[in-house]
Amino acid sequence: MILCANPSAQFKSYQAEIEEAVLAVMRGDRYVLGDEVAALEQDFAEYIGTTSAIGVANGTDAIELALRALDVGYGDEVITVSHTAVATIAAIEATGAKAVIVDIEPHFFTLQPSQLTNALTTNTKAIIAVHIYGQSADLNSISIFCKKNKIFLIEDVSQAHGAKYNGKRLGSIGDIGCFSCYPTKNLGAIGDAGLITTNNKKLSKKIRMLREYGWDKRISIYPGRNSRLDELQAAILRVKLRHLDSDNSKRNKLANHYIAELFDSSIVMPKTRDESTHVYHLFVVQVSNRNELMNHLKRKNILAGIHYPTPTHLQPAYLNRLTTSIDMKVTEKLADRILSLPIYPELSIKDAQKVVEALKCFNKN
Ligand SMILES: *Cc1c(COP(=O)(O)O)cnc(C)c1O
Repeated sequence: MILCANPSAQFKSYQAEIEEAVLAVMRGDRYVLGDEVAALEQDFAEYIGTTSAIGVANGTDAIELALRALDVGYGDEVITVSHTAVATIAAIEATGAKAVIVDIEPHFFTLQPSQLTNALTTNTKAIIAVHIYGQSADLNSISIFCKKNKIFLIEDVSQAHGAKYNGKRLGSIGDIGCFSCYPTKNLGAIGDAGLITTNNKKLSKKIRMLREYGWDKRISIYPGRNSRLDELQAAILRVKLRHLDSDNSKRNKLANHYIAELFDSSIVMPKTRDESTHVYHLFVVQVSNRNELMNHLKRKNILAGIHYPTPTHLQPAYLNRLTTSIDMKVTEKLADRILSLPIYPELSIKDAQKVVEALKCFNKN
């Protein structure tokens, strides 16, 4: 069976290093927010190119705490896309703020900057730019808009750990960067974890307080909550961070193989923005007969995925609540056409070629 993503294969490739790191934590005397978390925060800030990084419990919390640190709450609005993991919108609503959604660009699947003017109100406090599938949103246009209108820019980098925009790592460009380290992500824990990056010392200090009861020296300065990161996950992430660039280049080799083999088929290949590198968290193609194609692949023991089958604003929990005056043409059209082909660092070119052959023989029929 060829899976779409395969975190257990990744464990096997770094098994000795991970087991050693995990044992050392268990034999130590600190299990939550200890030396491993502090070291991971330092390693990650250095890697991303920010003055600080803060470990939290998961990616949804990373976004919620980032917004809270910027004083976003009831009465405020945050602009983002519907074409994202539900988590992006759930995190906005967790602060009490209203999520305002805009459509995406047809080629890159990221926020359409031309729609921002219509979405802006006097209550708009921030924009969350989601770097979907492994490459950057149009950060240049979005950050010019944010500066002009004095609103904050948060990057949701949960699908693009390590990708660069004009030579800078994503997560170092907006006011705050938010990362999920869910097991399938490019930098994945063996459980839940999240990271926040910023160059702003004040924000970093506040986020550190917010993740643990709003505490400063065990006195709650802010109404906080618990979003601590544990030592086991931090130790595992430190091992995997050392391999992130090489894992991302393995994803790129596989993506280039797919593109070279399939460029003249009827399947629409993903495109990379000129200013961005791509780390192919997902390899998302567009097809017109998705259900039959998925079934055909399944018969050949290949599991493709859909990210995401239903745009957030059309899911029951959000239906008729997030809609704005802006139409969601691209988001809604793509939802029926997108298909994620198997991609993960341990996937062999031989297996990727099996996927290619299966797609080619479907196209002939
Ligand atoms: C995975 C993901 C999240 C949520 O992260 P969790 O760790 O599952 O809370 C947020 N945004 C995007 C774009 C994601 O892909």
